[in-house]
Amino acid sequence: MSEQISIIVPSYNEQESLPYLYRALQKEAEEFRKLDVEFEIIFVDDGSKDNTLKLIKELAERDSRVHYLSFSRNFGKEAAIYAGLKNCSGDYAVLMDADLQDPPEYLMEMYLAIRDEGYDSVATRRVTRKGEPAIRSFFARCFYRLMKRISDTDMVDGARDYRLMKRSMVDAILSLPEYNRFTKGIFGWVGFRTKWIEYENVERVAGETKWSFWGLFRYSLEGIIAFSTFPLALASWMGVLLCIVAAAAIVFIVVRAALFGDPTAGWPSLACIIIFIGGVQLLCIGVLGQYVSKTYLETKRRPLYICRETNIEAKQKKDD
Ligand code: UDP
Ligand code: MG
Repeated sequence: MSEQISIIVPSYNEQESLPYLYRALQKEAEEFRKLDVEFEIIFVDDGSKDNTLKLIKELAERDSRVHYLSFSRNFGKEAAIYAGLKNCSGDYAVLMDADLQDPPEYLMEMYLAIRDEGYDSVATRRVTRKGEPAIRSFFARCFYRLMKRISDTDMVDGARDYRLMKRSMVDAILSLPEYNRFTKGIFGWVGFRTKWIEYENVERVAGETKWSFWGLFRYSLEGIIAFSTFPLALASWMGVLLCIVAAAAIVFIVVRAALFGDPTAGWPSLACIIIFIGGVQLLCIGVLGQYVSKTYLETKRRPLYICRETNIEAKQKKDD
């Protein structure tokens, strides 16, 4: 019996790159057909404001392997990935960006690694960050180094979301019900045998990146809060440290007063200490607040996305 690979493409304002992607996928599909493997392409339109949806619909009309889901607004790539995985029906699923930064040429190598070498998933990482602003690469490296220290979950520097996985891993990922989804962490958390393929960074074929520097910065904080509780512990450790410092200072002051008397002086240093401790306290409350706010969002149990239209009828109904 033939096998099926679901290709999930989150697309947000990608009208320029989609035609290139579709052409490249068609070429790959021919190769795969020789192995009796069929493609299913699921475009997840993440509330695009350009002609992305129109383009996808045209493709779907011509090609029955093309499926789509269109969100009611922009819910973010994480939500698009979730929606794609939830609505795919293949024996395998692969996540792929619309801009050809995840070269479809690697699909065959990835598939063969799972079929012949016994892996559950094949992931990719880029070994260079060519074409990216230097400051962005620098902070990305810092982020991964930090995560390695403060989180138990494996996160690989340069890892892309481009990944082929077996059904069992897809189901595992879907079984994590969290609202704040940081997919890179979730992949590591669910485990499974993963092979890594490395390649040089490819620049996007058309259109422009959706990530601003601050967008990425906020996303990295999300990752830290979702996959590490170390910042919470940090407050306690700082508290312990400050208690020790305070105890030492008390001993010092008592001894000094006993030996030399107690002339009243030193209010500027006192002011500095109060401001410093106040700052540390506010910082710790802020950290706590971040975790509380995430918990708040989790408890609301809002859906991760709202679908405006789709041509994946059967599946949608089954889920409801
Ligand atoms: N994307 C999305 N929703 C968003 C932002 C991005 O679905 O809110 C998609 C986008 O269309 C692309 C992929 O996520 O297919 C990666 O985005 P992009 O290429 O802008 O990110 P970069 O490669 O620069 O990190
Ligand atoms: Mg890109």
